[in-house]
Amino acid sequence: MAEDPAAPLDVKARLESVRAEIARAAGAAARDPAGVTLVAVSKTHGPGRIETAIAAGQRVFGENRVREAKEKWPALRARHPGIELRLIGHLQTNKAAEAVALFDVIETIDSPRLARALAKEMTRQNRRPRCLVQVNTGGEAQKSGAPLGSAEALVGECRALALPVEGLMCIPPAESDPAPHFRMLAELAQRLSLKTLSMGMSADFPAAIAAGATHVRLGTAIFGARN
Ligand SMILES: *Cc1c(COP(=O)(O)O)cnc(C)c1O
Repeated sequence: MAEDPAAPLDVKARLESVRAEIARAAGAAARDPAGVTLVAVSKTHGPGRIETAIAAGQRVFGENRVREAKEKWPALRARHPGIELRLIGHLQTNKAAEAVALFDVIETIDSPRLARALAKEMTRQNRRPRCLVQVNTGGEAQKSGAPLGSAEALVGECRALALPVEGLMCIPPAESDPAPHFRMLAELAQRLSLKTLSMGMSADFPAAIAAGATHVRLGTAIFGARN
């Protein structure tokens, strides 16, 4: 996690310009910018750069690996109360306990088995991170997420397990137009009365906001390229 010492200076300006772009995209869609939460994706970046973002007012962060988050975040959270930490990467069932202990929101429920493991851990730990179901809108074999056709059933199972499921998340295929995927996810969420829509990354977040995203997950736009 070596960092260019000059880079932290950049993070504040990048955050400001990203916030302005979010406001612009929301305005263009006749939406209140306050309805779009910026999730700063800090994976691979060290505490120095993250603290620069916190100093610039950022409070919501996303990490894609349980182990990396466990190494970085307990110390950061001890120094900075009021952070919301979201798991945005694939979660293995055998890491459910660690994820429940560490995260405030788990965005990547993609199987009934994982849903059951999380429900069991929430009861055991008496901790209830909010949950999203990840949907593989592109039907890509290499990507995690519930297939579109079984997402509704999975949401039903989460509800039957009393998981605090509040929305859907997707990562559209890299090469195609993301807009139809965003619209598909938004329609599904509406049909299931789910209010949270986590969609849109650095390259496509204005289109996600146009389609109704409540959370956009931006890494590169804030912290620069990952190595
Ligand atoms: C890394 C990652 C992001 C952020 O990607 P950028 O293109 O750097 O903005 C968003 N969502 C998920 C699930 C990721 O793994």
